[in-house]
Amino acid sequence: MDTAALTQFLSTTSKLAEHFSPSEIAGLSEQLSFESYEAGTVLMKEGEPACSLLLLISGDIRLTHDQIELRLLQPGEFFGESLFTEEGSRFANATSTSPVTIARLSLNHFYKLVEQAPVAARKFKQFFAAHHLNEVHEKEGLSFVDHRNYLGLVAHNEMKDSLMEFARTHTEKLKRFHLVATGTTGIKLYQETGLMLSRKVASGPLGGDQAIGKMISENNILGLVFFRDPLSAHPHHADIEAL
Ligand code: PGA
Repeated sequence: MDTAALTQFLSTTSKLAEHFSPSEIAGLSEQLSFESYEAGTVLMKEGEPACSLLLLISGDIRLTHDQIELRLLQPGEFFGESLFTEEGSRFANATSTSPVTIARLSLNHFYKLVEQAPVAARKFKQFFAAHHLNEVHEKEGLSFVDHRNYLGLVAHNEMKDSLMEFARTHTEKLKRFHLVATGTTGIKLYQETGLMLSRKVASGPLGGDQAIGKMISENNILGLVFFRDPLSAHPHHADIEAL
């Protein structure tokens, strides 16, 4: 692939065309060099100094962090954007899962781009750094572990007034806990007693009871106050029994 073909490839398969002009993309293409690797090659290792930006041309690459898969890269996707961040070290591992061809922008070649097209170089730096930040935020969402212990409050419709009365009587005590409640119970608690939730799950019939069950299995529930209504039929009967 020559520079013109690479420019064409970048303009059609990557997201660059949405943000950069054809001549800016051509300027970047000129600084990239091609490399080919077998399946199973580690192209990037978490924690290593980041001294180049990489682009997948063909084949499959898996990005992982802390033994969690971040994503499978598609041809036309860049990786290793940590080159443009302040930490300057690799955030993820990249391993080829098939024979791959990549293109690499080394730091020295980026400096050449800075000399030749300073405005475009600055734009590229900002673009890739922003992309990297997004990826880090997504990953934080994935691996977020809630270590808090909650007190759960749930009431069926016919029992909501009873729970409200209970909550009004014990407001001061309940305020000492992180509270979690199912959808409608949570709204009513706030409106009628001013108690605020630290975490909210869906309404019972929409899976909220199961969500609290999941929190119990993950040791996030200290106790559960459940005002059940055994006299009415509920669409989520099985979930209530489980809870
Ligand atoms: P709700 O759900 O708080 O959204 O009414 C409670 C339940 O039905 O289990």
